[in-house]
Amino acid sequence: MISLGEARRVIGGAVGRLPAVAVPLAEAAGRVLAEEVRADAWYPSGDRGTMDGYVVREDAVAGEFRVVGEIQAGALPGRALEADEAMRIFTGALVPECGGRVVPQELAERDGERVRMATFPENLFIRRKGEEASPGTRIVVEGTRLGATELAMLAQVGAAMPMVTRLPVIRHVATGGELVAPEETPPEGKIRDTNSTLIAALVAAHGGGELQGFRCGDDPEVLAGICREPCDLLLISGGASVGDYDFGARVLRELGFEIHFDKVNLRPGKPLTFATRGRQAAFVIPGNPVSHFVCFHVAIRLALELMAGEARPWELLELPLAGREALRPDARETFWPARVEVEDGRLVARPQRWSTSGDTFSLLRTNALVLVNSSSPVEGVAKTLLLAAL
Ligand code: AMP
Ligand code: MG
Repeated sequence: MISLGEARRVIGGAVGRLPAVAVPLAEAAGRVLAEEVRADAWYPSGDRGTMDGYVVREDAVAGEFRVVGEIQAGALPGRALEADEAMRIFTGALVPECGGRVVPQELAERDGERVRMATFPENLFIRRKGEEASPGTRIVVEGTRLGATELAMLAQVGAAMPMVTRLPVIRHVATGGELVAPEETPPEGKIRDTNSTLIAALVAAHGGGELQGFRCGDDPEVLAGICREPCDLLLISGGASVGDYDFGARVLRELGFEIHFDKVNLRPGKPLTFATRGRQAAFVIPGNPVSHFVCFHVAIRLALELMAGEARPWELLELPLAGREALRPDARETFWPARVEVEDGRLVARPQRWSTSGDTFSLLRTNALVLVNSSSPVEGVAKTLLLAAL
């Protein structure tokens, strides 16, 4: 049985990035940039005023000026300024040659062709050419997930069709003869399939992809038929353990997958199998929904990040524990469902009540996992994996 750290290294060495595609900016939100985007020009392109007011030469002396023109944003200034001249200027407009200071209009008294500015503020109210970027300045690096700010920058530098990683095609197959669809009332002995919905939502929240969902009962032939179709990531739910109906890994092996590991020192989620065939990755994930949830966050998400080419560190935060009564450590590396919240102005991790890995109710309000094991007893603080931005 390998440690989670070792399992993550194995996944890291076996899963590669998907090819890049060019997409319009409107479709690029949440996608991972597969190229480096650099500035195409000077930003600002020339010296620009940052206030509505009057522009004068930088060496001008406060007093009275002749107003010799007006420059709107987007317009070109007509000519250079003399020492006793000013031009009306609006926010964002290019300053004229020799112009070096914008005086806000609140500090100016206009009288026909003349304007009086008794004092100059210290601030010149000018953004200099190239102050923010020059041609070639790196703007957004490869491997960045594109959020609002990055997209805005791409728009600004004219990267209107950025190269992003193709979204993965993911097949999730829920095994188990006990499963019925969520819209059905389960007959005695059966249960509703929770994992398909759980995985669909987790995938959507972590980069997305084309998710193809199936239920196949406990029939290895049907499972093999579903697994034979091409996809980037195959997720088999249930059938990960050693019971008579736990044929997930066997089916993968028969289909030519190489099994890299089939057990991880992890709680919940010990019987986790990871396999690859060419560029295709597969996991057999224990069927209990809490195991499914934890395995997604500690292992499957890594495979998705690698496919996306997202450089993301594995970071556990040390957070004060708010109540540790719920915790029951054991020898395995345990990722305990927890809720990180703000208490008296600081973040704390509150372990959730959690009885067994089948206890899906413990996942309600869970936004973090707290790492516990018996060899390093949890004192006042716990290493915490944040699952979402707070
Ligand atoms: P398995 O990994 O197939 O041995 O399943 C472990 C436990 O998880 C069993 O109690 C299953 O009934 C339950 N389980 C398996 N698949 C699902 C599913 N898709 N949704 C909810 N519970 C499941
Ligand atoms: Mg099963």
